[in-house]
Amino acid sequence: MAQPLVGGVRSGLRVLVTAGASGIGRVMAETFLAHGARVMICDVDEAALDGWRKAHPDQPAIRADVASQSDVDALFEAAAHALGGLDVLVNNAGIAGPTAAVEDIDPDEWRRTIDVNLNGQFYCLRRAVPLLKAAGNGAIINIASVAGRLGYAWRLPYAASKWAIVGMTESLSIELGRDGIRVNAILPGIVEGPRIDKVIGARAQELGIGFEEMRQRYLEKTALGRMVTPQDVANMAVFLCSSMGASISGQALSVCGHVISL
Ligand code: NAD
Repeated sequence: MAQPLVGGVRSGLRVLVTAGASGIGRVMAETFLAHGARVMICDVDEAALDGWRKAHPDQPAIRADVASQSDVDALFEAAAHALGGLDVLVNNAGIAGPTAAVEDIDPDEWRRTIDVNLNGQFYCLRRAVPLLKAAGNGAIINIASVAGRLGYAWRLPYAASKWAIVGMTESLSIELGRDGIRVNAILPGIVEGPRIDKVIGARAQELGIGFEEMRQRYLEKTALGRMVTPQDVANMAVFLCSSMGASISGQALSVCGHVISL
């Protein structure tokens, strides 16, 4: 017999969100909390971490740069201790990287973008998987981008890192499926907030046009003609960790209002 849809996640679900002190990560972390999960976050920004701790004094939060293997090792030791194990990893940390023509990209900026966006996810995955296996099941959500599916001119290191995340997600889903671990990527589109304003501003400057005109050009790239919100992305994360997502693995799920091109 058909069952009614059941929303939300299991109460007490143990969730780790990287870069959870602000932006999309914070909204995801708070949405999991609102559904009764236990959430630990990390971030590199001490001021943002303080803001999180004030709002959520009972939730563990530590400073960790995901691009540093030793920071990540310490993060997972702390998570295993504070949460008593792990059921969900949300691999969210990522930086925008440079906006520049290929010949103008500084190799150090290339390396830093790949270090945070791709290597950082790998460092977290290799420490999360033993905990998820010990839990007997689990879910991994790798935050990619629609730039992991579409070409993104003048943003080469970002696009390369996000395409790699999609490949890593699909491969890992096959590897971990029989352990009861589901692995998916969420591909946010153009998300409202300070980060996209910075990207739009940089591109407007490159082209010598105004911010508003550039913003309109971005909106025209979407079928819905608008940006999405961090909450839209958080809703997908919770959905994937709920009973409604129980058979979804190895997928790259866009939350983008249908971005047609970048
Ligand atoms: P953001 O730039 O607002 O940063 C969020 C948090 O990440 C900050 O608190 C920052 O301190 C932290 N952070 C940065 N580098 C870190 C590191 N090395 N280790 C730990 N924490 C770090 O980011 P956002 O817009 O919330 O994006 C979150 C994720 O979503 C990223 O992976 C990003 O690529 C992806 N995404 C964002 C958009 C968008 O339009 N904002 C679109 C597509 C995908």
